[in-house]
Amino acid sequence: MNEIPHWLEKQSDLQPTNVAIEYGEHQSISYSELREESRKLAKGLIKKGVKQGDHVAILSGNRVEFPICVHALSYIGAVVVCLNTRLSPEELAFQLTDADATSFIVDTEFVEEGHKAIELTTLNEDTLVTMDHLPKADGSISLNDQLSLDDVFTMMYTSGTTGKPKAVMHTYGNHWFSAVASALNLGLSARDKWLACLPLFHVGGFSLLMKNVIYGMPIRMLARFDAEVINNEIRHHGVTIVSVVTVMLQRLLKDLQENSYPRSFRCMLLGGGPVPKPLLHKANERNIPVFQTYGMTETSSQIVTLSPSDALRKIGSAGKALAPATLKVLVGGRIAEPYETGEIHVRGPMVSSGYYKKGHREAEYLATGDAGYLDEEGFLYVVDRVNDMIISGGENIYPAEVESVLLGIEGVEEAGVTGMPDDEWGEVPTAFIVKKEEADISLEKLNEYCRGHLAPYKIPKQLFVISQLPRNASNKIVRRKLFKSVEGEHGYEH
Ligand code: ATP
Ligand code: MG
Repeated sequence: MNEIPHWLEKQSDLQPTNVAIEYGEHQSISYSELREESRKLAKGLIKKGVKQGDHVAILSGNRVEFPICVHALSYIGAVVVCLNTRLSPEELAFQLTDADATSFIVDTEFVEEGHKAIELTTLNEDTLVTMDHLPKADGSISLNDQLSLDDVFTMMYTSGTTGKPKAVMHTYGNHWFSAVASALNLGLSARDKWLACLPLFHVGGFSLLMKNVIYGMPIRMLARFDAEVINNEIRHHGVTIVSVVTVMLQRLLKDLQENSYPRSFRCMLLGGGPVPKPLLHKANERNIPVFQTYGMTETSSQIVTLSPSDALRKIGSAGKALAPATLKVLVGGRIAEPYETGEIHVRGPMVSSGYYKKGHREAEYLATGDAGYLDEEGFLYVVDRVNDMIISGGENIYPAEVESVLLGIEGVEEAGVTGMPDDEWGEVPTAFIVKKEEADISLEKLNEYCRGHLAPYKIPKQLFVISQLPRNASNKIVRRKLFKSVEGEHGYEH
Protein backbone atom coordinates (compact mmCIF):
# COMPACT_ATOMS: atom_id res chain seq x y z
CA MET A 1 0.00 0.00 0.00
CA ASN A 2 1.16 3.44 -0.89
CA GLU A 3 0.69 4.92 2.60
CA ILE A 4 2.30 7.58 4.74
CA PRO A 5 1.67 8.48 8.39
CA HIS A 6 -1.11 11.05 8.74
CA TRP A 7 0.75 14.33 8.22
CA LEU A 8 -0.85 16.16 11.13
CA GLU A 9 -0.12 13.24 13.49
CA LYS A 10 3.46 13.48 12.34
CA GLN A 11 3.90 17.20 12.93
CA SER A 12 2.08 17.05 16.22
CA ASP A 13 4.54 14.39 17.33
CA LEU A 14 7.61 16.22 15.99
CA GLN A 15 6.77 19.74 17.17
CA PRO A 16 3.67 19.70 19.39
CA THR A 17 4.05 23.15 20.94
CA ASN A 18 5.24 25.05 17.85
CA VAL A 19 2.80 27.45 16.23
CA ALA A 20 1.05 25.92 13.23
CA ILE A 21 -1.30 28.74 12.24
CA GLU A 22 -1.41 32.41 13.17
CA TYR A 23 -4.79 34.02 12.55
CA GLY A 24 -6.98 36.95 13.58
CA GLU A 25 -5.36 39.80 15.49
CA HIS A 26 -2.87 37.89 17.63
CA GLN A 27 -4.23 34.38 17.82
CA SER A 28 -2.44 31.16 17.06
CA ILE A 29 -2.87 27.42 17.24
CA SER A 30 -0.06 24.91 17.82
CA TYR A 31 0.33 21.60 15.99
CA SER A 32 -0.93 19.59 18.96
CA GLU A 33 -3.93 21.90 19.35
CA LEU A 34 -4.66 21.70 15.62
CA ARG A 35 -4.52 17.91 15.94
CA GLU A 36 -6.78 17.87 19.00
CA GLU A 37 -9.37 20.19 17.45
CA SER A 38 -9.40 18.29 14.16
CA ARG A 39 -9.76 14.91 15.88
CA LYS A 40 -12.58 16.13 18.12
CA LEU A 41 -14.40 17.49 15.08
CA ALA A 42 -13.80 14.24 13.18
CA LYS A 43 -15.43 12.31 16.02
CA GLY A 44 -18.30 14.80 16.23
CA LEU A 45 -18.93 14.48 12.50
CA ILE A 46 -18.81 10.69 12.68
CA LYS A 47 -21.45 10.80 15.42
CA LYS A 48 -23.53 12.98 13.11
CA GLY A 49 -23.30 10.26 10.48
CA VAL A 50 -20.39 11.38 8.28
CA LYS A 51 -18.41 8.39 7.10
CA GLN A 52 -15.44 7.35 5.02
CA GLY A 53 -15.91 8.19 1.35
CA ASP A 54 -18.61 10.81 1.97
CA HIS A 55 -18.33 14.08 0.06
CA VAL A 56 -18.43 17.01 2.48
CA ALA A 57 -18.66 20.51 1.02
CA ILE A 58 -17.03 23.48 2.75
CA LEU A 59 -18.13 27.06 2.07
CA SER A 60 -15.81 29.28 4.06
CA GLY A 61 -13.63 32.33 4.10
CA ASN A 62 -10.09 32.20 5.46
CA ARG A 63 -10.64 31.29 9.09
CA VAL A 64 -8.93 28.76 11.31
CA GLU A 65 -11.95 26.42 11.27
CA PHE A 66 -11.30 25.83 7.54
CA PRO A 67 -8.10 23.80 8.09
CA ILE A 68 -9.64 22.16 11.17
CA CYS A 69 -12.51 20.90 8.99
CA VAL A 70 -10.12 19.81 6.25
CA HIS A 71 -7.98 17.76 8.64
CA ALA A 72 -11.05 16.36 10.42
CA LEU A 73 -12.30 15.01 7.10
CA SER A 74 -8.92 13.42 6.41
CA TYR A 75 -9.12 11.64 9.77
CA ILE A 76 -12.47 10.21 8.63
CA GLY A 77 -11.38 9.50 5.06
CA ALA A 78 -14.12 11.76 3.68
CA VAL A 79 -13.62 13.89 0.57
CA VAL A 80 -13.40 17.69 0.95
CA VAL A 81 -15.40 19.63 -1.66
CA CYS A 82 -14.20 23.26 -1.71
CA LEU A 83 -16.76 25.89 -2.71
CA ASN A 84 -16.08 29.46 -3.79
CA THR A 85 -17.66 32.03 -1.43
CA ARG A 86 -18.42 34.38 -4.35
CA LEU A 87 -20.79 31.92 -6.04
CA SER A 88 -24.53 32.61 -6.12
CA PRO A 89 -26.90 30.20 -4.32
CA GLU A 90 -27.82 28.73 -7.73
CA GLU A 91 -24.19 28.11 -8.59
CA LEU A 92 -23.54 26.64 -5.14
CA ALA A 93 -26.55 24.36 -5.51
CA PHE A 94 -25.25 23.17 -8.87
CA GLN A 95 -21.86 22.29 -7.40
CA LEU A 96 -23.34 20.63 -4.29
CA THR A 97 -25.44 18.40 -6.52
CA ASP A 98 -22.78 17.85 -9.16
CA ALA A 99 -20.24 16.83 -6.49
CA ASP A 100 -22.74 14.49 -4.73
CA ALA A 101 -22.15 16.28 -1.44
CA THR A 102 -23.91 14.67 1.52
CA SER A 103 -22.98 17.26 4.17
CA PHE A 104 -22.33 20.97 3.99
CA ILE A 105 -20.14 22.94 6.42
CA VAL A 106 -20.76 26.68 6.19
CA ASP A 107 -18.91 29.70 7.56
CA THR A 108 -21.32 31.81 9.66
CA GLU A 109 -20.68 34.74 7.30
CA PHE A 110 -22.20 32.79 4.38
CA VAL A 111 -24.95 30.98 6.19
CA GLU A 112 -27.74 32.75 4.31
CA GLU A 113 -26.29 31.75 0.93
CA GLY A 114 -25.75 28.25 2.31
CA HIS A 115 -29.39 27.86 3.29
CA LYS A 116 -30.62 29.31 0.01
CA ALA A 117 -28.37 26.90 -1.89
CA ILE A 118 -29.46 23.85 0.05
CA GLU A 119 -33.13 24.65 -0.66
CA LEU A 120 -32.32 24.29 -4.36
CA THR A 121 -30.92 20.79 -3.85
CA THR A 122 -32.37 17.51 -2.63
CA LEU A 123 -30.20 17.76 0.51
CA ASN A 124 -31.87 17.87 3.88
CA GLU A 125 -31.57 21.14 5.87
CA ASP A 126 -29.99 19.29 8.80
CA THR A 127 -27.02 18.27 6.69
CA LEU A 128 -25.89 21.91 6.98
CA VAL A 129 -23.45 22.56 9.84
CA THR A 130 -22.35 26.10 10.69
CA MET A 131 -18.79 26.80 11.70
CA ASP A 132 -19.81 28.38 14.98
CA HIS A 133 -21.55 25.15 15.98
CA LEU A 134 -19.18 22.48 14.81
CA PRO A 135 -19.96 19.15 16.46
CA LYS A 136 -17.08 18.09 18.73
CA ALA A 137 -16.81 14.75 20.51
CA ASP A 138 -14.33 12.74 22.55
CA GLY A 139 -14.09 9.05 23.18
CA SER A 140 -12.72 5.99 21.52
CA ILE A 141 -13.75 6.32 17.90
CA SER A 142 -11.07 5.10 15.55
CA LEU A 143 -9.60 7.62 13.10
CA ASN A 144 -7.16 7.28 10.19
CA ASP A 145 -3.55 7.35 11.32
CA GLN A 146 -2.28 6.63 7.80
CA LEU A 147 -3.03 8.40 4.51
CA SER A 148 -3.11 6.46 1.28
CA LEU A 149 -1.48 8.56 -1.44
CA ASP A 150 -3.85 7.13 -4.06
CA ASP A 151 -7.05 8.07 -2.23
CA VAL A 152 -9.02 11.10 -3.37
CA PHE A 153 -8.79 13.82 -0.72
CA THR A 154 -10.24 16.96 -2.31
CA MET A 155 -12.48 18.13 -5.12
CA MET A 156 -12.09 21.69 -6.33
CA TYR A 157 -13.90 23.39 -9.16
CA THR A 158 -11.93 25.16 -11.88
CA SER A 159 -12.70 28.86 -12.25
CA GLY A 160 -15.10 28.42 -15.18
CA THR A 161 -13.24 30.82 -17.45
CA THR A 162 -13.55 28.72 -20.59
CA GLY A 163 -16.80 26.87 -19.85
CA LYS A 164 -18.65 25.36 -16.93
CA PRO A 165 -16.41 24.80 -13.88
CA LYS A 166 -15.07 21.24 -13.72
CA ALA A 167 -14.63 19.28 -10.47
CA VAL A 168 -10.94 18.39 -10.27
CA MET A 169 -10.14 15.41 -8.04
CA HIS A 170 -6.90 15.54 -6.07
CA THR A 171 -5.44 12.59 -4.23
CA TYR A 172 -3.35 12.86 -1.05
CA GLY A 173 -0.42 12.04 -3.32
CA ASN A 174 -1.17 14.98 -5.64
CA HIS A 175 -1.07 17.37 -2.68
CA TRP A 176 2.01 15.71 -1.20
CA PHE A 177 4.00 15.94 -4.42
CA SER A 178 2.85 19.49 -5.07
CA ALA A 179 4.22 20.54 -1.68
CA VAL A 180 7.44 18.59 -2.18
CA ALA A 181 7.97 20.01 -5.68
CA SER A 182 7.61 23.54 -4.35
CA ALA A 183 10.12 22.89 -1.55
CA LEU A 184 12.62 21.35 -3.97
CA ASN A 185 12.48 24.58 -5.92
CA LEU A 186 12.25 27.25 -3.20
CA GLY A 187 14.08 25.37 -0.49
CA LEU A 188 12.83 25.35 3.05
CA SER A 189 14.22 27.27 5.98
CA ALA A 190 13.48 26.76 9.67
CA ARG A 191 12.57 30.46 9.77
CA ASP A 192 9.96 30.23 7.02
CA LYS A 193 6.47 31.55 7.56
CA TRP A 194 4.12 31.65 4.55
CA LEU A 195 1.37 34.24 4.39
CA ALA A 196 -2.02 32.87 3.30
CA CYS A 197 -3.98 35.76 1.80
CA LEU A 198 -5.32 33.92 -1.28
CA PRO A 199 -8.72 32.26 -0.72
CA LEU A 200 -8.26 28.81 0.78
CA PHE A 201 -11.01 27.31 -1.41
CA HIS A 202 -8.84 27.76 -4.52
CA VAL A 203 -5.91 25.47 -5.02
CA GLY A 204 -3.32 28.26 -4.58
CA GLY A 205 -4.56 29.00 -1.07
CA PHE A 206 -5.40 25.41 -0.20
CA SER A 207 -1.88 24.27 -1.06
CA LEU A 208 -0.62 26.37 1.88
CA LEU A 209 -2.71 24.29 4.28
CA MET A 210 -0.93 21.26 2.87
CA LYS A 211 2.55 22.79 3.15
CA ASN A 212 1.65 23.74 6.72
CA VAL A 213 1.31 20.08 7.76
CA ILE A 214 3.65 18.43 5.26
CA TYR A 215 6.68 20.69 5.94
CA GLY A 216 5.72 21.59 9.50
CA MET A 217 6.00 25.25 8.46
CA PRO A 218 3.85 27.89 10.19
CA ILE A 219 1.42 29.93 8.12
CA ARG A 220 -0.10 33.33 8.84
CA MET A 221 -3.72 33.32 7.72
CA LEU A 222 -5.48 36.53 6.70
CA ALA A 223 -9.23 36.76 6.27
CA ARG A 224 -8.97 39.01 3.23
CA PHE A 225 -6.55 40.86 1.01
CA ASP A 226 -5.44 44.16 2.53
CA ALA A 227 -2.24 45.66 1.10
CA GLU A 228 -1.42 47.64 4.22
CA VAL A 229 -1.85 44.65 6.55
CA ILE A 230 0.18 42.38 4.27
CA ASN A 231 3.04 44.86 3.90
CA ASN A 232 3.07 45.21 7.66
CA GLU A 233 3.24 41.43 8.12
CA ILE A 234 6.14 41.17 5.67
CA ARG A 235 8.02 44.16 7.04
CA HIS A 236 7.59 43.59 10.76
CA HIS A 237 6.26 40.15 11.56
CA GLY A 238 8.64 37.64 10.03
CA VAL A 239 6.69 36.52 6.95
CA THR A 240 9.23 35.05 4.49
CA ILE A 241 6.99 33.93 1.59
CA VAL A 242 3.71 35.22 0.12
CA SER A 243 1.60 33.85 -2.76
CA VAL A 244 -0.19 36.52 -4.80
CA VAL A 245 -1.90 37.18 -8.11
CA THR A 246 -1.06 40.15 -10.35
CA VAL A 247 -3.56 42.65 -9.00
CA MET A 248 -2.40 41.95 -5.44
CA LEU A 249 1.24 42.68 -6.29
CA GLN A 250 0.17 45.94 -7.97
CA ARG A 251 -1.60 47.02 -4.79
CA LEU A 252 1.23 45.91 -2.51
CA LEU A 253 3.72 48.00 -4.50
CA LYS A 254 1.42 51.01 -4.41
CA ASP A 255 1.00 50.74 -0.66
CA LEU A 256 4.71 50.11 -0.06
CA GLN A 257 5.60 53.54 -1.48
CA GLU A 258 9.29 54.21 -0.70
CA ASN A 259 9.57 51.49 1.94
CA SER A 260 11.22 48.15 1.34
CA TYR A 261 10.97 44.57 2.51
CA PRO A 262 13.54 43.04 4.88
CA ARG A 263 16.22 40.69 3.52
CA SER A 264 14.56 37.80 5.36
CA PHE A 265 11.59 38.12 2.97
CA ARG A 266 12.65 35.66 0.31
CA CYS A 267 9.79 34.93 -2.08
CA MET A 268 6.81 36.63 -3.66
CA LEU A 269 5.21 33.77 -5.59
CA LEU A 270 3.21 35.35 -8.40
CA GLY A 271 0.84 33.33 -10.58
CA GLY A 272 -2.71 32.48 -11.58
CA GLY A 273 -2.81 34.62 -14.72
CA PRO A 274 -0.84 36.78 -17.13
CA VAL A 275 1.63 39.25 -15.64
CA PRO A 276 2.39 42.62 -17.31
CA LYS A 277 6.12 43.11 -17.87
CA PRO A 278 6.24 46.67 -16.46
CA LEU A 279 5.10 45.24 -13.12
CA LEU A 280 8.01 42.79 -13.09
CA HIS A 281 10.47 45.62 -13.81
CA LYS A 282 8.98 47.71 -11.05
CA ALA A 283 9.23 44.85 -8.54
CA ASN A 284 12.82 44.27 -9.56
CA GLU A 285 13.71 47.93 -9.05
CA ARG A 286 12.39 47.58 -5.51
CA ASN A 287 14.46 44.40 -4.93
CA ILE A 288 11.36 42.29 -4.43
CA PRO A 289 12.15 38.63 -5.10
CA VAL A 290 9.29 37.77 -7.48
CA PHE A 291 9.00 34.14 -8.59
CA GLN A 292 6.68 33.95 -11.61
CA THR A 293 4.70 30.76 -11.69
CA TYR A 294 2.22 28.88 -13.84
CA GLY A 295 -0.27 26.30 -12.71
CA MET A 296 -3.93 25.43 -12.56
CA THR A 297 -6.42 23.60 -10.39
CA GLU A 298 -5.58 20.39 -12.29
CA THR A 299 -1.89 20.62 -11.32
CA SER A 300 -2.61 21.16 -7.59
CA SER A 301 -1.14 24.72 -7.87
CA GLN A 302 2.27 25.68 -9.33
CA ILE A 303 3.96 23.29 -11.76
CA VAL A 304 6.25 25.71 -13.64
CA THR A 305 8.22 28.43 -11.83
CA LEU A 306 10.86 31.04 -12.66
CA SER A 307 13.47 31.95 -10.05
CA PRO A 308 14.45 35.60 -9.45
CA SER A 309 17.98 34.87 -10.69
CA ASP A 310 16.47 34.37 -14.16
CA ALA A 311 13.67 36.89 -13.73
CA LEU A 312 15.19 39.70 -15.77
CA ARG A 313 17.06 37.61 -18.28
CA LYS A 314 13.78 35.79 -18.99
CA ILE A 315 11.32 38.52 -18.28
CA GLY A 316 7.74 37.40 -18.86
CA SER A 317 8.61 33.71 -18.68
CA ALA A 318 6.88 31.37 -16.21
CA GLY A 319 10.10 29.34 -15.94
CA LYS A 320 10.72 25.62 -16.07
CA ALA A 321 8.77 22.60 -14.84
CA LEU A 322 9.42 21.86 -11.17
CA ALA A 323 11.05 18.57 -10.19
CA PRO A 324 9.55 15.99 -10.59
CA ALA A 325 7.30 17.35 -13.37
CA THR A 326 7.86 17.65 -17.12
CA LEU A 327 6.34 19.83 -19.76
CA LYS A 328 6.21 19.91 -23.54
CA VAL A 329 4.62 22.12 -26.16
CA LEU A 330 2.83 20.35 -28.99
CA VAL A 331 1.67 21.53 -32.40
CA GLY A 332 -0.64 19.05 -34.13
CA GLY A 333 0.93 16.11 -32.26
CA ARG A 334 4.59 17.04 -32.82
CA ILE A 335 7.00 18.81 -30.47
CA ALA A 336 7.08 22.52 -31.24
CA GLU A 337 10.28 24.23 -32.33
CA PRO A 338 11.73 26.87 -29.98
CA TYR A 339 9.52 30.00 -30.10
CA GLU A 340 6.79 28.11 -31.94
CA THR A 341 3.46 28.46 -30.12
CA GLY A 342 1.49 25.32 -29.38
CA GLU A 343 -0.50 23.73 -26.57
CA ILE A 344 1.25 23.28 -23.21
CA HIS A 345 1.20 19.68 -21.93
CA VAL A 346 2.29 18.75 -18.40
CA ARG A 347 2.99 15.56 -16.54
CA GLY A 348 3.90 14.80 -12.95
CA PRO A 349 2.70 13.27 -9.68
CA MET A 350 0.96 16.53 -8.70
CA VAL A 351 -1.25 16.44 -11.80
CA SER A 352 -4.83 15.28 -11.14
CA SER A 353 -5.86 12.13 -12.95
CA GLY A 354 -9.26 13.50 -13.91
CA TYR A 355 -12.51 15.29 -13.23
CA TYR A 356 -15.27 13.85 -11.06
CA LYS A 357 -17.51 11.48 -13.02
CA LYS A 358 -15.58 12.17 -16.23
CA GLY A 359 -13.28 9.13 -15.97
CA HIS A 360 -9.52 9.01 -15.67
CA ARG A 361 -7.25 10.64 -18.20
CA GLU A 362 -5.75 8.01 -20.49
CA ALA A 363 -2.87 10.11 -21.76
CA GLU A 364 0.28 10.50 -19.64
CA TYR A 365 0.34 14.22 -20.24
CA LEU A 366 -2.43 16.65 -19.38
CA ALA A 367 -3.36 18.95 -22.27
CA THR A 368 -3.70 22.25 -20.40
CA GLY A 369 -5.76 24.20 -22.96
CA ASP A 370 -3.14 26.93 -22.67
CA ALA A 371 -1.02 28.12 -25.57
CA GLY A 372 2.65 28.81 -25.01
CA TYR A 373 6.16 28.41 -26.37
CA LEU A 374 9.60 27.47 -25.10
CA ASP A 375 12.71 29.50 -25.83
CA GLU A 376 15.96 27.84 -26.89
CA GLU A 377 16.86 27.20 -23.23
CA GLY A 378 13.51 25.58 -22.49
CA PHE A 379 11.92 28.44 -20.54
CA LEU A 380 8.14 28.54 -20.88
CA TYR A 381 6.19 31.59 -22.03
CA VAL A 382 2.44 31.30 -21.52
CA VAL A 383 0.63 33.05 -24.38
CA ASP A 384 -3.12 32.59 -23.86
CA ARG A 385 -5.94 30.05 -23.89
CA VAL A 386 -5.82 27.86 -27.01
CA ASN A 387 -9.55 28.19 -27.66
CA ASP A 388 -9.55 31.97 -27.41
CA MET A 389 -7.25 32.28 -30.44
CA ILE A 390 -8.72 34.39 -33.23
CA ILE A 391 -7.93 33.41 -36.83
CA SER A 392 -8.13 36.42 -39.11
CA GLY A 393 -7.27 36.01 -42.77
CA GLY A 394 -5.26 32.91 -41.86
CA GLU A 395 -3.23 34.72 -39.18
CA ASN A 396 -3.36 33.69 -35.51
CA ILE A 397 -4.14 36.36 -32.95
CA TYR A 398 -4.00 35.79 -29.20
CA PRO A 399 -6.35 38.19 -27.38
CA ALA A 400 -4.03 38.45 -24.34
CA GLU A 401 -1.36 40.16 -26.46
CA VAL A 402 -3.83 42.70 -27.81
CA GLU A 403 -5.35 43.28 -24.37
CA SER A 404 -1.98 44.02 -22.82
CA VAL A 405 -1.29 46.61 -25.55
CA LEU A 406 -4.69 48.23 -25.03
CA LEU A 407 -3.96 48.51 -21.31
CA GLY A 408 -1.07 50.81 -22.21
CA ILE A 409 -3.49 53.45 -23.59
CA GLU A 410 -4.03 56.40 -21.29
CA GLY A 411 -7.54 56.20 -19.83
CA VAL A 412 -8.06 52.47 -20.43
CA GLU A 413 -8.84 50.71 -17.18
CA GLU A 414 -9.67 47.19 -18.35
CA ALA A 415 -9.64 45.51 -21.76
CA GLY A 416 -11.10 42.34 -23.21
CA VAL A 417 -10.64 41.15 -26.79
CA THR A 418 -12.46 38.49 -28.77
CA GLY A 419 -13.18 37.62 -32.40
CA MET A 420 -16.19 38.80 -34.40
CA PRO A 421 -17.35 36.92 -37.53
CA ASP A 422 -16.35 38.74 -40.70
CA ASP A 423 -17.20 37.95 -44.32
CA GLU A 424 -13.83 38.91 -45.69
CA TRP A 425 -11.39 37.76 -42.97
CA GLY A 426 -13.34 34.98 -41.25
CA GLU A 427 -12.94 36.75 -37.91
CA VAL A 428 -11.66 40.13 -36.81
CA PRO A 429 -10.50 41.19 -33.35
CA THR A 430 -12.95 43.32 -31.39
CA ALA A 431 -12.10 45.33 -28.28
CA PHE A 432 -14.23 45.79 -25.17
CA ILE A 433 -12.97 48.53 -22.93
CA VAL A 434 -13.77 49.87 -19.50
CA LYS A 435 -12.46 53.42 -19.43
CA LYS A 436 -11.62 55.84 -16.69
CA GLU A 437 -14.56 58.17 -16.17
CA GLU A 438 -13.00 61.28 -17.67
CA ALA A 439 -11.21 59.49 -20.52
CA ASP A 440 -12.20 59.86 -24.15
CA ILE A 441 -11.67 56.57 -25.99
CA SER A 442 -12.48 56.15 -29.67
CA LEU A 443 -11.68 53.54 -32.31
CA GLU A 444 -9.46 56.11 -34.11
CA LYS A 445 -7.47 56.78 -30.96
CA LEU A 446 -7.12 53.09 -30.28
CA ASN A 447 -5.99 52.43 -33.87
CA GLU A 448 -3.41 55.14 -33.72
CA TYR A 449 -1.85 53.77 -30.54
CA CYS A 450 -1.99 50.14 -31.68
CA ARG A 451 -0.24 50.93 -34.99
CA GLY A 452 2.99 51.45 -33.11
CA HIS A 453 2.64 48.22 -31.12
CA LEU A 454 0.81 45.59 -33.16
CA ALA A 455 0.77 44.13 -36.66
CA PRO A 456 -2.19 45.58 -38.63
CA TYR A 457 -4.24 42.34 -38.59
CA LYS A 458 -4.11 42.28 -34.76
CA ILE A 459 -5.55 45.78 -34.37
CA PRO A 460 -9.20 45.69 -33.19
CA LYS A 461 -11.64 46.59 -35.96
CA GLN A 462 -14.48 47.43 -33.62
CA LEU A 463 -14.70 48.96 -30.16
CA PHE A 464 -17.30 48.69 -27.43
CA VAL A 465 -16.90 50.89 -24.39
CA ILE A 466 -18.72 49.13 -21.55
CA SER A 467 -19.15 49.70 -17.83
CA GLN A 468 -17.72 46.37 -16.70
CA LEU A 469 -16.23 43.25 -18.22
CA PRO A 470 -17.96 39.91 -17.63
CA ARG A 471 -15.93 38.15 -14.93
CA ASN A 472 -16.31 34.85 -13.07
CA ALA A 473 -16.16 34.22 -9.31
CA SER A 474 -12.35 34.12 -9.56
CA ASN A 475 -12.41 37.58 -11.12
CA LYS A 476 -11.11 36.35 -14.47
CA ILE A 477 -12.45 37.86 -17.70
CA VAL A 478 -14.88 35.49 -19.43
CA ARG A 479 -14.23 36.35 -23.08
CA ARG A 480 -17.01 34.17 -24.46
CA LYS A 481 -19.49 36.47 -22.68
CA LEU A 482 -18.06 39.73 -24.05
CA PHE A 483 -20.54 40.02 -26.91
CA LYS A 484 -23.40 39.00 -24.63
CA SER A 485 -22.59 41.98 -22.42
CA VAL A 486 -23.44 44.39 -25.26
CA GLU A 487 -26.41 42.55 -26.73
CA GLY A 488 -29.21 45.00 -27.37
CA GLU A 489 -26.86 47.93 -26.75
CA HIS A 490 -25.29 49.81 -29.66
CA GLY A 491 -27.90 48.15 -31.90
CA TYR A 492 -25.78 45.01 -31.79
CA GLU A 493 -27.12 41.46 -31.98
CA HIS A 494 -24.71 38.53 -31.93
P1 ATP B 1 -11.69 26.73 -16.46
O1 ATP B 1 -10.71 25.61 -16.49
O2 ATP B 1 -12.95 26.34 -15.76
O3 ATP B 1 -11.93 27.38 -17.76
P2 ATP B 1 -9.55 28.30 -15.29
O4 ATP B 1 -8.67 27.56 -16.24
O5 ATP B 1 -9.46 29.78 -15.28
O6 ATP B 1 -11.08 27.88 -15.51
P3 ATP B 1 -7.99 27.79 -12.91
O7 ATP B 1 -7.56 26.38 -12.70
O8 ATP B 1 -8.34 28.57 -11.70
O9 ATP B 1 -9.28 27.77 -13.82
O10 ATP B 1 -6.89 28.63 -13.65
C1 ATP B 1 -5.80 28.07 -14.34
C2 ATP B 1 -5.48 28.88 -15.56
O11 ATP B 1 -4.98 30.18 -15.21
C3 ATP B 1 -4.41 28.30 -16.42
O12 ATP B 1 -4.89 27.24 -17.23
C4 ATP B 1 -3.96 29.51 -17.22
O13 ATP B 1 -4.82 29.77 -18.32
C5 ATP B 1 -4.08 30.64 -16.22
N1 ATP B 1 -2.73 30.91 -15.64
C6 ATP B 1 -2.21 30.44 -14.51
N2 ATP B 1 -0.95 30.89 -14.32
C7 ATP B 1 -0.66 31.68 -15.39
C8 ATP B 1 0.47 32.44 -15.80
N3 ATP B 1 1.59 32.51 -15.06
N4 ATP B 1 0.39 33.12 -16.96
C9 ATP B 1 -0.72 33.07 -17.72
N5 ATP B 1 -1.82 32.38 -17.40
C10 ATP B 1 -1.80 31.68 -16.24
MG1 MG C 1 -8.71 25.56 -16.81
